[in-house]
Formats: sequence, structure tokens, C-alpha cells
Amino acid sequence: MNETPKLWPHAWSLIRGQQRVALVGLVLTLFSIAASLLQPWPLKIIVDSILGSVPMPASLAGFADNKPAALLTVCLALLVINVVRGGLGAWGTTYLVRAGLRMTQELRFRVYEHLQKLSLVFHDSRAVGDSIYRVTWDTYSIQTIFNGGLIPLVSAIATLIGMMIWMLHLDVVLTLLALAIAPALALTIKRYNRLMTDVSTEYYTHESKVSAMIQESLSAIRTIQAFAREEDEVRRFSTGAAQSVDANVRMTKVQVMSSFVVGLITAVGTVAMIWIGGQRVLAGRLSIGELLVFITYVGMLYGPMSTISGIATAVQGALTPFRRVIEILETKPTIGDKPGARPLTRCNGVVRFEGVWFGYVTDHPVLKGVDFEARPGQMVALVGPSGVGKSTLLSLLLRFYDPQKGRVLLDGQDIREFQYRSLRRQIGIVPQEPVLFSTSVRDNIAYGRPAATLDEILEAARAAEADEFIRAMPQGYDTPIGERGVTLSGGQRQRLALARAFLKNSPILILDEPTAALDSETEVAVLRSLERLRQGRTVFVVAHRLSTVRQADLLLVLHDGQIVERGRHDELVARGGHYARVCELQFGAPPQ
Ligand code: ADP
Repeated sequence: MNETPKLWPHAWSLIRGQQRVALVGLVLTLFSIAASLLQPWPLKIIVDSILGSVPMPASLAGFADNKPAALLTVCLALLVINVVRGGLGAWGTTYLVRAGLRMTQELRFRVYEHLQKLSLVFHDSRAVGDSIYRVTWDTYSIQTIFNGGLIPLVSAIATLIGMMIWMLHLDVVLTLLALAIAPALALTIKRYNRLMTDVSTEYYTHESKVSAMIQESLSAIRTIQAFAREEDEVRRFSTGAAQSVDANVRMTKVQVMSSFVVGLITAVGTVAMIWIGGQRVLAGRLSIGELLVFITYVGMLYGPMSTISGIATAVQGALTPFRRVIEILETKPTIGDKPGARPLTRCNGVVRFEGVWFGYVTDHPVLKGVDFEARPGQMVALVGPSGVGKSTLLSLLLRFYDPQKGRVLLDGQDIREFQYRSLRRQIGIVPQEPVLFSTSVRDNIAYGRPAATLDEILEAARAAEADEFIRAMPQGYDTPIGERGVTLSGGQRQRLALARAFLKNSPILILDEPTAALDSETEVAVLRSLERLRQGRTVFVVAHRLSTVRQADLLLVLHDGQIVERGRHDELVARGGHYARVCELQFGAPPQ
């Protein structure tokens, strides 16, 4: 994972993607700001020329003798200015928020798409809940950066420049005095920014942990309940949640303190302005109306300044989640196509492992020089205790990982010569716990070949001996399957997975047998369909049942990262070696 991902190019490209909507919103907002800068001026005319004795400005010269009419006109002007300011402001905001949300959407899309491509090495190394949190929540950070950072910054700068021009026009000395407060504000801002970065990193780390914890325990709910560990889970959760709340409280404290100190500096500045400005009116250097405009502006001046300080903290807070998303985007998939990799159309299915070494962690090899060949029509069973490396070996064939030494060959070619996705299309998988998606039975069967016709789906289901129980379901093939298929029995799920493999019709098939015993009727049905499925294909089975190893053409007995024995079941039992012992231990069957 990249340690210091460059954030701004990513942020900028997301903002550029919405530039049209964003620009419309920005222009409307700038007009609204211009209207708000006009606000104090009608008040000045009322105080100086209508209530006081300063001559009317040229635009109202016609009302010189009719002050009530002048008052009404100026009041109406004030109303119009306010309506324009508020209306344009609201209109602009809808555009800007739309742009911000679309940026979040685009970022979600990019990171989700990237996660789909990232290798298992990446996914294995992190909690699913953490990735979910990054895609779902951390992606809002770009909206915060845009709507809570960039736009308020541009608006505040525009307001400040506009006011500065008007203030310099009124009184240079007072303007410079107003600016004298800026360094104090800048220092405060800097101090709180640093604090904010620390506490927000802590908060997001805790939040993500909580989310990972929920994900982990809910997906293992059966196990938790079976072991009656619910209370421990709740305790673990409440500790995690409490840590997250504490961090959030600390973050809020920093925010509140920062606003308080900025507010205090602002108040001191405003009071000083009124005091000095009042003296200048007494000395006859400024009209009362002008002082009023000035005081209003001074009040408004600190608004944008504290907005800027708020922006810094908001953006700092958003940068941490944004960095977490960009970290994923910048992670390069370790499995990829090398330059010139060819697409694999239809292979024969001759699989060869040549001196394959592999380990998930350096210096801890799981496979230590594995050699074998499997040919089409052969059923190859991998045998050995749990953790010996059977699934790992098959993961290498699927190119979820690459060997550290040696080669995996398909039809005599190193599989790294092929585009990896086209390689995977040649391989059908029936996992130990088939994963079913929350769609219809029909879509689940067609997962490996979405374009399949209904007839093909029916044929596959019949071959897998699943047709009968599917028809007995309330809506037959259109019956929706509950989340993760909990409404189906293990045997039914297994047969749906077999139907999926039949339909995919790939030259190579990998089957990880369920460890839990299927009822004998289901087992016979599964074996019969397996017998059909193996015709002309290379079939790999991670064998957990005696009936399967008996059927296999070649058993590969794994021990300590190597194949220690190979042959048919009867031959190996007769040899009375390693397999004969494993056989007795694993299948509880005495060697015959
Ligand atoms: P089997 O399929 O024979 O039960 P595996 O191939 O699943 O065995 O595991 C072989 C070894 O590799 C075990 O020690 C296991 O802990 C380890 N292992 C499996 N998957 C991973 C992984 N994703 N990351 C790290 N170690 C793993």
C-alpha cells in the first residue's frame, strides 16, 4: 500500500468531472455575495440623508422634498436586495450540493470498481468491514472537501475582497485596524488544525474498527449463537463503540474550543472598531451612516475569516477519510496481465505443476516444490489434513496468487502468458460453502454465464439433480434466494452450485466438497451429477469423503507442502503407507 498517496490530483479530477454544475452554482453564489455587500448601503442613506441632513445621493435627488417617499423607496430597495441575496444563494447551493454529491458518487464508483479488481492478497489482508466503511462513508469526504472547504473558501475570499474595497473607499485607517486582528486569527487556526488532524485520525480508526466488528460478527452469527458467545460479542462491541464515542467527543471539544477562541478574537476586534470609529464620527471625519456601514462590514468581515478557520478544520477532518479511500485507489493489483498476455479461448485442460513453491508470508512456504500433471477426463482428488495447502494449490491454478518458484502450466503454457480473466473463465468452481447471491434461483445458476437461455438453465439444473426441488419452490426458478441463501439446505446449495458449473461448461472444474455429511440421498445425487460433469473435463476435488476418493482417477496426498504419495485409492491403501493412515484418520475407514 502506498504510504503517502497524492490526494490533490484525485480531488481535482473529481471536481473537474462536475465542473459545469459546480460553475453554475458558484456564479449564482457570487451574485448572492455581491447582493449581501450592498445590504448596508440603504441603511446609510436612511440614517444620513433621510433621517439626517446629508444631501441625498444623485440617484434619489428627485425625492429631496418628499422624505417619506424616499424612505419607502429605500426600504423597498432593501427588501429587493435581500430577496435577491437569499434566492440566488439558495439556488446556487442546490447546484453546489448536487455537484458535491455527484463527486461522492463518482468516487464510490471508482473505488468499488478498483476493489473488484484488487487481488486476494489485498482482500485477505484487511477486514471486509473496513473496506465497506471506506466505500460507503469515507467517500463523503470529497463532498466535505468541496461543499465544506473549497466553495466556502472561494465565497469567503470573494466576500473579503468585496468588503475590503468598500472599506478602503470609506476609511483607510479603520480598514488597516480591522486587518490588524488577522495574525491572531491565523495563529489560532494553525494550532487547532494540528490538534484536529490528530483527533480525527483517531476517531476514524475507531469508527472503522466498529464497522468491521459488526460485519464480522453478523456474518458469523450462526457460529456465535452455536457457541453461545452473544454476550461476549456485545461486550466487545460496546468497548469498541465507547472508544469511538470518546474519540468523537474529543473531536467535538477541539471544534468547539476553536470556534470559541475565534469568536473571542472577533468580539475584541468588533468592539475596538466601534470605539475608534465612534471617535472619528465625534471628530466629524465620518458620517453616522458611514460608521454604520463600517460596523456592519466589520461584523461581516470576521464572518468569512472564521469561516476560513472552520474550513481548515473541516477539510483537515475530511482529509483523513479521503486519504483512506485514495489508499485503496492507489493500491496496484499484484495479479495482472503482463504485457502481451494472450486471451485464452478454449483450453484442453492439461494442467501441470512444475516445482511450485508458494507461501502467503515470506519464509513460511505452504507448498514446497509441488509437481503433478492432470489430464482431461481425469478426476484428481487432493487429500490431506486441513491446513496442508489443498485450497492454496487450487488458488494458484486460478491465479489468485502467483508461485514464488516454479510454474503452473495449462496445455503446456505458463498460465501467466494468458490474460488472467480469460484463464478464470476456463475454470468452474463448486466451493465448499457455495455462495448464493440475493437474486432468483435462475440468476444464481446463470452466474457464470449470464446470457444463458432458460432451456440451458433447465438442462443444467436437471444434470445437477436440482430441477425437482427448484420446481417445488413457491415461484420455481424465479424464487428469490434470501441473503446468502440461508433458506436452502446445504445439499440444495451444493446442487445449485453444481448446476452453475454445468452451465458454465468449462474444461476445468474445481470442487471443494462440503465437510459436513450430506444426507445419503443427496450424496448419491451429487456423485451422479459429478460423474456426468467429469466427462471430458479435468476435475480437481478437495476430497473429504471416502465415496469421492474411491471415484477419483488420481489421488495426490499432501504432507508438509509436498505430494508424498500419488495413485488410485486401492493402490495407495494396498501400499499401506502414508495414505493408508490418512485414510483411516480422515474417513474413519479401515484400509481394505
Ligand atoms: P487446506 O485447504 O488444505 O485446508 P489451505 O490451503 O487453506 O489448506 O491453507 C494452507 C496454509 O496456508 C494454512 O496454514 C493456512 O493457515 C494458510 N493460509 C491459507 N490462506 C491464507 C491466507 N489468505 N493468508 C495467509 N495464510 C493463509
